[in-house]
Amino acid sequence: MTDEERPGTGTPSPGLAWSLPEAPPAVPALPSPEAAGGWVSVAPLLAPSPLIPPPGGPPSGDTQSGGPASSSAPPGSPASAAPQSWNAPPGRPPSAGAPASDRSPQRGGGRRTAVVVGCVVALLAALGVAVRLPGPLSPIASHAGFTSSSHAPSAGSASARNGVVGYQAFDDGARQILGQMTSALAAHDAARFQSVAAPASASMRARLRQMYDALVALPPASFTFELDPRRAARELSSPKPEAHTLPVRVTYSFKGWDVTDVRVPLTFVATRSPGGGWALAEDRTTTDADSDARLEPWILDNTYVTRTPHVLVIGDRSHQAQARRLAATLESLAGDVRRVWPERSWNGKVVAYAVTSRTFVHSWYGRSAAGDPANGDRASFVAKVATLQSSPSSGDRAAIRMVVTPYLLGSPRSGYSDILRHELTHVAAAAFSQRVPVWLVEGAAEYTGFARRSGATLDATRTLGEHGLTSGEVSATARGTWRPTLVEGYGFYAGSEKAVDERYNSAFITCLYIADHYGEASLRQLYEQAHRSSETQVLRQVLHTDRTHLIAAAGAYATTLRQRLVFR
Ligand SMILES: [Zn+2]
Repeated sequence: MTDEERPGTGTPSPGLAWSLPEAPPAVPALPSPEAAGGWVSVAPLLAPSPLIPPPGGPPSGDTQSGGPASSSAPPGSPASAAPQSWNAPPGRPPSAGAPASDRSPQRGGGRRTAVVVGCVVALLAALGVAVRLPGPLSPIASHAGFTSSSHAPSAGSASARNGVVGYQAFDDGARQILGQMTSALAAHDAARFQSVAAPASASMRARLRQMYDALVALPPASFTFELDPRRAARELSSPKPEAHTLPVRVTYSFKGWDVTDVRVPLTFVATRSPGGGWALAEDRTTTDADSDARLEPWILDNTYVTRTPHVLVIGDRSHQAQARRLAATLESLAGDVRRVWPERSWNGKVVAYAVTSRTFVHSWYGRSAAGDPANGDRASFVAKVATLQSSPSSGDRAAIRMVVTPYLLGSPRSGYSDILRHELTHVAAAAFSQRVPVWLVEGAAEYTGFARRSGATLDATRTLGEHGLTSGEVSATARGTWRPTLVEGYGFYAGSEKAVDERYNSAFITCLYIADHYGEASLRQLYEQAHRSSETQVLRQVLHTDRTHLIAAAGAYATTLRQRLVFR
């Protein structure tokens, strides 16, 4: 069932409507995707377009004013790696032959707004600053070969039970704490995991328990806490005179889900215990500038995990029904995407983060999440797909995450499935999306997300009709003057919401044309080869055309479809 909206498990919770705090935490600028060696995909969410009557604004229960905005990708970014945006589908199909509307788009009133979905790669590169730990700890000597098993105290030792014995150097204490956490997690020993908390810090003890519970519920195939060799510990004047930040690097993978490991930074605070050793007093991961971007859900409280055979959703307990609906919908759609993108590089699975806390959402989106009124007329995003940082031994493999905003999580409206198919396409193609022109990355995802079929046959006219266009595009296609704008780089996402929206539409129609005229296999082949060759080369080799002719052909094709839509 590719065209039907899967029934939801309930109406969106009013709690999903999140408003931004007066002074949100500063979120570091994303590293340039090129610098990070990755790619980013964003999709403008579309509200009702002029072609299709608006479904009535944001989903019920969502109190944000205005619609989701459009993409916020950095302007002027290179062509090789780009956030990709796409338009959410209209709320319902237009009636056959629906005349084009001349209404100009209105923000929040029934126009398509851009919502984004993105794919971000190697995002954490900007977070790490190569530094040394102070004092007697030499980063090289201290970290090389450090593993949980080799450094963890034995379960029965005094230090394992009580922290540390005697006056202990900070670096030794830090290693002991992290080793104990690693081994306790592996042994499923909650009490020992919590025992690294300072005796006086009940909050840290509770924090560790939350983290432990979340992790054992997942569970990770491997999970190692170690000192982060790229960051230095800092001495603090509080909570006690002898306190240090403890920069941590976690390396983990989810068992059965990730094809390689993930590396993320955490920031704890360790204080000297009365006995002379060290213990954890605080978790500053969400507030420390070195670790507050792209937070992992398992570091937050009240994590909720749900899974289907191909989908793992990590959300929060206050939105369990929405998380289950997301998992069920993704499970039902994975096969649709698999048929178009039968890539061996995709294991057919997806890990989705669906956490609604402001802290979490800001850490992934800054101000560009759908529904964030502070985003102005810039594009906003409903979901994104990210390639996470892995250890050097991972090679070309990478762990992928889909990150869904509260806006999308709470939306049971039509278009939910189209958006999720779009995102799943980014997951399926993640392994070979670097260097692919952004218009092709987004167009292919948009095509896969919105394709309407009669049996196994593509119904291109209905596909266009249910996708929608801006009023200007409707007029231009009717006149026969419309031509797609195919932006290769991050400029795809720059400019006004309307401009970004139209770039998505250009990419979508062009890929619809390619799939309809040359076949889906050619669209896929074009994408795969664009990973390794220039646009000029792949257009010639796969489609036997060039950019100029492709633009002209796609323009004429759009006019033909427009006529069929109106007169059929
Ligand atoms: Zn996209």
